[in-house]
Amino acid sequence: SRLDAIAFCKNLIEEFKIIATPEHTLTLSTTEENIELISDEKLLLHILGNLLSNAIKYSPQGGTISLEISCDRQQVIFRIQDQGIGIPTDYQAQMFQPFERAINVGSISGTGLGLWIVKHSVDLHGGQISVDSVVGVGTTFTVTLPSGI
Ligand code: ATP
Ligand code: MG
Repeated sequence: SRLDAIAFCKNLIEEFKIIATPEHTLTLSTTEENIELISDEKLLLHILGNLLSNAIKYSPQGGTISLEISCDRQQVIFRIQDQGIGIPTDYQAQMFQPFERAINVGSISGTGLGLWIVKHSVDLHGGQISVDSVVGVGTTFTVTLPSGI
């Protein structure tokens, strides 16, 4: 269905503020007035919800988690950035595999399924996902989805 992508993200950020701690700051930014996207709400929730929940969970010391949404021609781009523990480079090739977790997670719990679901959902949408991460500095995931409009 036809979604208002900015309104969708605003609602999502408000919901995630509930699970974030006082040490976390969640922000939404966009330079656009309106971004329309033909998508399935549940699919989008799988993608952005898992990435936001990871961003919070893997930032045990807090910091800013930002969701940035933009559009370029017929594509909608979501960027989720955190200042957390980072993802080791040698693990990044496996991160979309089910039940895989990186060595630096310490006592942070998880099943290793979130990114697998994210990857499948992005693929179903005909989109792309990439990561840029530095251990101890933070992680940025970029998801590009065809707007379908
Ligand atoms: P689940 O999401 O199933 O509860 P999980 O968070 O461990 O468990 P994924 O979401 O699939 O699993 O993530 C896989 C692994 O990738 C994580 O265990 C962690 O090692 C790493 N990871 C994912 N997102 C981040 C992030 N934002 N910062 C640091 N590491 C991350
Ligand atoms: Mg996860």
